[in-house]
Amino acid sequence: FCSRRLRDLFGFTMDKMFSTGLFNQSAADVLDEAATAVFDDKTMKSKLPAAVYTRFKQSLVTGEVTSEEDMQAIADSIFGWARSKGAVAFAHWFFPMRGGSGAVGGACGAFKMDTLIDLEWSSPEGTKPFKATLPPERLFFGETDGSSFPNGGLRATHTAAAFTTWDRSSPCFVYEKVLRVPCSFVTHLGACIDDKTPLLRSNDAVNREGLRLLKAVNIGTDAKQIHSFLGWEQEFFVIKADLYRARPDLVNCGRTLIGALPARNQQADLNYFAPVPEAVHALLFNIQAAMLKLGCPMAVCHNEVAPAQHEMSPIYCQATFSSDNNVLFMEVCNNEAAKLGLAVLFHEKPFAGINGSGKHNNWSIGTDTGLNFFYPGKTDPARELFVIGIACLSYGLMQHNDLVRCAVAHAGNDHRLGAQEAPPAIVSLYPGTGFEAHVDSIIGGGELLGYKAEKKTADTKSTAAMPAPCGVEDRNRTAPFPFCGNRFEFRAVGSSQNCSFPIAMVNTIMASGMAHLASLIEGGMSTRDAVAQIYKENRNVIFTGNGYSAEWPDEAKRRGLPNRFTTPLATATFNSEKAKTVFEAMKVYSPEECDARQEVMYENYNTTLSVEASTLVQMIETGILPACATDLAKYSAMPSLKGERDAVYTSIKKETDQLKKLFASKPHEMVAEADYLCNTVKPQMQVVRAAVDKAEGLIQKDLYPFPTYEQLIYSHHS
Ligand code: ADP
Ligand code: MG
Repeated sequence: FCSRRLRDLFGFTMDKMFSTGLFNQSAADVLDEAATAVFDDKTMKSKLPAAVYTRFKQSLVTGEVTSEEDMQAIADSIFGWARSKGAVAFAHWFFPMRGGSGAVGGACGAFKMDTLIDLEWSSPEGTKPFKATLPPERLFFGETDGSSFPNGGLRATHTAAAFTTWDRSSPCFVYEKVLRVPCSFVTHLGACIDDKTPLLRSNDAVNREGLRLLKAVNIGTDAKQIHSFLGWEQEFFVIKADLYRARPDLVNCGRTLIGALPARNQQADLNYFAPVPEAVHALLFNIQAAMLKLGCPMAVCHNEVAPAQHEMSPIYCQATFSSDNNVLFMEVCNNEAAKLGLAVLFHEKPFAGINGSGKHNNWSIGTDTGLNFFYPGKTDPARELFVIGIACLSYGLMQHNDLVRCAVAHAGNDHRLGAQEAPPAIVSLYPGTGFEAHVDSIIGGGELLGYKAEKKTADTKSTAAMPAPCGVEDRNRTAPFPFCGNRFEFRAVGSSQNCSFPIAMVNTIMASGMAHLASLIEGGMSTRDAVAQIYKENRNVIFTGNGYSAEWPDEAKRRGLPNRFTTPLATATFNSEKAKTVFEAMKVYSPEECDARQEVMYENYNTTLSVEASTLVQMIETGILPACATDLAKYSAMPSLKGERDAVYTSIKKETDQLKKLFASKPHEMVAEADYLCNTVKPQMQVVRAAVDKAEGLIQKDLYPFPTYEQLIYSHHS
């Protein structure tokens, strides 16, 4: 009507008025582009024949193999869609167990670009004509060399074949003209050599044991599937790219190996939630736009505690897709930063003395019918499920504590865990003080129901600002595993990690708890008694106090909770008999894969520390010592001014020589090497660093050969 009236009045249509700008319709913006570059469920449903779509979705529940005809239909529709989005190539995108130092964020993902062109092989011509196509077998499967990726001995150069196969639960997308296909990566013999496959298997475990448990406790039995969900909070630093390149330690190791704190660092927490500096604002905005287009809405974006530190997190979704999105996020950060002359640091501790970066994994378990095991619930069954869910979690965390510790064990995180800025290396469970009291009442014979989950309010006691609704339980930022109202926040995850591994571990231990509880009830116990028994046996893992306090390590020891404060200490436990048993029972790792994974953890650790030691020596010999010599020479005419320079500079040389000597005699056996690097080489690196940082306060300003902390963390503000 409206448009006809207007046409009558003005003689042209409304469309024309919009296009001529007569009406001030706002231009299309990033929100209009949301999810346009991802072949998500909605797009898939609109492009595929209904029956093919239904079968595809069903296969994600049953694990059924997609038929050749359906593969053809799916490949055709993805190809057509990808071309319309500008794709000129495709790539299987997979997730080797690279871990590494966090030096190059985004390296968690790997892909080999493939063409969307094929030849008309049936043509009689000598030069075969081309056609653009995506054959179904190339979309679904790929073959590559597994021996050059970390594989823990599961592949060798003479038995190198490995295969990629589309993780059908994570959608394809187009990024920078390439259609990416998220993949699982396995050897010729079907052993996993990536981070994604264990996550997929752990999802199956949660699904299998969770459905079994629901049946046993007779709650939510209409559920067909149980999923794990993840919302990550990524912390990172942004600095200028030219300063980054001028620091061999940042380039090689992702963290500064030397560098004194500036007088003003983070004492007043001035940066926390402060306005984002202009240059970084542009970067974060561009990242947000790119991620939104790729189907990942970034919900939160703010300045973090340390100068130059920031955080972004998306709205949560299923854990596989969410983990993939995080790897993509790191890659997008690198790319967008490069365009603006900036660099993003994902290392857990780029700067000594100021806060490091974590990647809190907000994690929950829920059914396809909307039940959440970690939500206190509005109905009695949902409330009961909450109490049951946390019992399973406490079992998993107590019985398989080491696996959760291993999930976050790597060289970078050693600088962060237990350093009063992140949770300690002791893994405990914080369900809230109110819930802790409820657990004790259950152990004492009380009912499962009765936990008061009513919302409270925080009263401002002022006329203008109303009382704010607040969560049932307080926040505990010192806990590695705090309850957050409808999820647990695994806070110990390092900023450079692929979330897949930590989530695979917490899924595994949760599934083991669900299996244990189900078996008690199936064996004839009442749900109440079985839950009470589990709480009683695993009570020690529940801790609601201050995890940063000096007493906690002693108290934890009394409770039988290990404190494995270095990566080698944690890694040693990964393939224990107990670990292998639970991994096998939950079908997450075979014993062989478990050994391989441990080997990779050691290898990554040893490589990281070796590169750090070599880089430190190189920076000192080619940068610091020459600067010291030049500086000292300036005092030859006025020796009374040189103070302690001679002694300090000489000590750098002496301690560096000692570091070289120690490093040269490192053992070659993997475990011994890790222990030696950790306990002998790393402390000596600290000694060297202390001397160099002292010298930094003495050397003439323009002679110090590397950008200082002050320059690194403040100059992007201009
Ligand atoms: P914080 O206040 O701890 O900094 P943020 O708001 O930065 O938390 O991030 C919280 C994250 O938790 C978001 O990614 C959010 O989507 C996610 N989240 C919320 N509910 C759930 C849930 N049930 N399961 C998993 N993740 C969730
Ligand atoms: Mg946050």
